[in-house]
Amino acid sequence: MLVVKKFGGTSVADKDRILNVAKRCVDSYNAGDDVIVVLSAMGDTTDDLIEEAHRINPNAPKREMDMLLATGEQKSVSLMAIAMASMGAAAISLNAFQVAMHTTANYGNARFKRIDSERIRRELDARRIVIVTGFQGIDKFDDVTTLGRGGSDTTAVALAAALHADKCEIYTDVDGVYTADPRIVPNAKKLKEITYSEMLEMATLGAQVLHNRSVEMAKKYGVELVVRSSLSLEEGTVVKEGAKMESMLVSGVAADKNTARIALVGLKNEPGVAFKIFNILGKNNINVDVILQSIGRDNRKDISFTVSEDDADQAVALLEDQKGSIEMERIECDKNVAKVSVVGAGMQTHAGVASGMFEALYNAGINIRMISTSEIRISVLIDEDQADRAVKAAHDWFIED
Ligand code: ADP
Ligand code: ASP
Ligand code: MG
Repeated sequence: MLVVKKFGGTSVADKDRILNVAKRCVDSYNAGDDVIVVLSAMGDTTDDLIEEAHRINPNAPKREMDMLLATGEQKSVSLMAIAMASMGAAAISLNAFQVAMHTTANYGNARFKRIDSERIRRELDARRIVIVTGFQGIDKFDDVTTLGRGGSDTTAVALAAALHADKCEIYTDVDGVYTADPRIVPNAKKLKEITYSEMLEMATLGAQVLHNRSVEMAKKYGVELVVRSSLSLEEGTVVKEGAKMESMLVSGVAADKNTARIALVGLKNEPGVAFKIFNILGKNNINVDVILQSIGRDNRKDISFTVSEDDADQAVALLEDQKGSIEMERIECDKNVAKVSVVGAGMQTHAGVASGMFEALYNAGINIRMISTSEIRISVLIDEDQADRAVKAAHDWFIED
């Protein structure tokens, strides 16, 4: 059996954790499995590297940031191979260049295009444990790229798909996917199973337990995922097609604090305004989420929308530059907002979920700034300092103890 095992930053944070992971992988290998291990950078390494770079230059070139951040994963894979060697196991570490894992040239947010499987296959055939750097790739210029924060999950799924692995296990610091972040909602319930679609919504809406693109890719290639703890033998959560959702209306609540609201106030109420605004953002690869347009008055209207907090300053600068062609009174940007969402496939066939969400927030005295919905989710934008309370309120409303 070929297994891909991915371990996140906290699971390889220090010497003891590395030895723990090494032992788990070597045990699996000794039991006869072919093992590919994907690792993240140790502990807070990635955050520390970003801070270090920004202390030197707050506008560090994206290419150089990727070159820098990729070193974190290279350190963990080599230390892991060293740890496995101390246990007498045959192991080899490889970075994305050596594999090779080809991506787009979109630094900081690259996507996989193609993965060469020959090198890994050769190492597996020689009965070696293959340890691969998560989170990174190479582009057509042979430059190092990274996949975006949390991207090691996507490396694991991409390798599982490319090598037709029998299993893809995501080991982390919680023992599965819960109905909400168990660190914020202590009575959150662990899910036995969750569908790709629901997990994709949860991950996209802020449940960082899985990188959203890893779920997208798992769904596309039919890679069944198991999310479980690196520190216990608990069973974990299976992410797959057609999972049984224990007949719950809502399968989870998620919050995304890394969001900002931009408002363009006093726009002219004429055709083409929305096009001009979102065209310029789209051309600059800025993803826009919730959009709200006010009813026009006195030939004026307002448009507000949300973007990732990381993109907010650039979005405002781009729109300021357009003031010549897009007439408006002013631009407002608020980074102290959060998006709280409830997700559940049951919503497609049951009415009343939206009103339940609004009532739960009303009871908690939380004001809603924007609302958006899809077939299987309802999201609201609220003040960031109320996000944790909102998650708890929505969770208690929908999910029974
Ligand atoms: P890793 O470093 O292993 O990739 P992450 O920090 O990226 O770990 O993801 C695990 C964290 O995700 C948990 O510690 C937990 O706080 C958070 N989390 C958010 N939402 C959920 C959820 N619905 N279920 C489980 N964990 C969640
Ligand atoms: N080390 C990277 C990060 O911190 C990738 C990952 O952990 O998945 O975002
Ligand atoms: Mg992660």
